[in-house]
Amino acid sequence: MQDTSRVAIIGGGIIGCLTGWFLREAGFAGAITIIERDPTYRFSSTALSAASIRTQFACPVNVSLSLFGSEFLRSIQNRLDPEADIGLVQNGYLILASAPSAEMRRAALAMQQSLGAKVVALDRADLATRFPWLNSEQVELATLGTADEGWFDAWALLQAARRAALRRDVAIIQAEASGFETDGGRIEGVRMADGSSLQADWCVNAAGPLSGKVARWLGIALPVAPKKRTVFHFRAPLSGKDMPMLFDISGAWMRPEGEGFIGGIQPAADADPDAGEDFEPDHYLFEDRVWPLLAARVPALEQIRLLNAWAGHYEMNLFDHNGVVGPHPDLPNFLFATGFSGHGIMHAPGVARAIAEHVVHGRYTSIDVGPLGFGRIAADRPMPESAIY
Ligand SMILES: Cc1cc2nc3c(=O)[nH]c(=O)nc-3n(C[C@H](O)[C@H](O)[C@H](O)COP(=O)(O)OP(=O)(O)OC[C@H]3O[C@@H](n4cnc5c(N)ncnc54)[C@H](O)[C@@H]3O)c2cc1C
Repeated sequence: MQDTSRVAIIGGGIIGCLTGWFLREAGFAGAITIIERDPTYRFSSTALSAASIRTQFACPVNVSLSLFGSEFLRSIQNRLDPEADIGLVQNGYLILASAPSAEMRRAALAMQQSLGAKVVALDRADLATRFPWLNSEQVELATLGTADEGWFDAWALLQAARRAALRRDVAIIQAEASGFETDGGRIEGVRMADGSSLQADWCVNAAGPLSGKVARWLGIALPVAPKKRTVFHFRAPLSGKDMPMLFDISGAWMRPEGEGFIGGIQPAADADPDAGEDFEPDHYLFEDRVWPLLAARVPALEQIRLLNAWAGHYEMNLFDHNGVVGPHPDLPNFLFATGFSGHGIMHAPGVARAIAEHVVHGRYTSIDVGPLGFGRIAADRPMPESAIY
């Protein structure tokens, strides 16, 4: 019998494209339509991200999602496209902690290891031997991922996911969603800005930084807002060949990129408004914070040449900095796949697979993403993810 059910996915970034693809993998035979307003992806978070993956998180579900994300990226040619070349570099993350946070970080390390993450603790002597370019002052604990962590080309990943979805008969239409048609406790369709509409039995909110706005069309207070993050690209007299992604105690980060490096830092809380449509890099952050903080940690950066900078939007979950995944409790065919607060690409494979499992089997059959459900927001029970950058 022909499957007549229909899934509409708002947002054709990495979450939307992989959700379409995983629905087919899970055996969904009905119609799948991804609604994407801008096929150039000029402002999409996926295209503007730092495209890195780590297993070092404070919440177990995030570690599990990253382990699957890593497996997915490593096997991308078998899974998505034999031609896919995402330039995966597996140099790990080196995360530094000072005395006040070391205890918490040790507990997180034990949890990560118990789930199979290959993360080791290093002391100052280890740091001096392995990373002689690093100043280890005030470092109480350093943790290094020895597998399943690194970085890749997000644009290449997005294009591979998009092509793979199209090949599996997932339609990607250029349109701007602007509202919903509902009937009691169900979504019946998605309305477009051009006046047309798309009937749907399931609707996935994968609109990234704009997903809070999409939820508001239904009167749902999803605490996800766009927050601007600036990435600086620079050169320095230092080889990045074996260098991991470095997260300093100060919150500044850097990693190799091509012949140079990229790096950044979160703006101060009182200088971090809802980004609206502002994609202008915060240039002041480089001179004021990123450069001095990184140069104190990596002395070779005292001589630095800034090449360029860009800014993108995090889909920031203001409630607890964790993803929001799965159905709305009162609107069961409206599914969230958003709120990842800076770690949405690495978790896209696991989240997309979970959404597909929910649609096809009515439950999560691999990673239980239940802890990321909207229920915690409705019940005002945050599950904070402290390892965000
Ligand atoms: C500077 C920066 C660095 C980052 N670094 C990392 C990192 O190292 N590792 C990591 O895992 N993550 C990182 N992230 C986060 C990551 O990029 C996001 O979590 C991820 O890309 C989210 O994917 P998405 O598909 O949900 O969103 P997007 O890629 O933004 O896709 C959403 C799409 O929805 C479309 N859309 C929105 N509203 C509508 C509408 N009404 N109608 C139709 N289409 C609509 C948009 O055009 C957009 O293309 C970073 C983000 C930024 C900004």
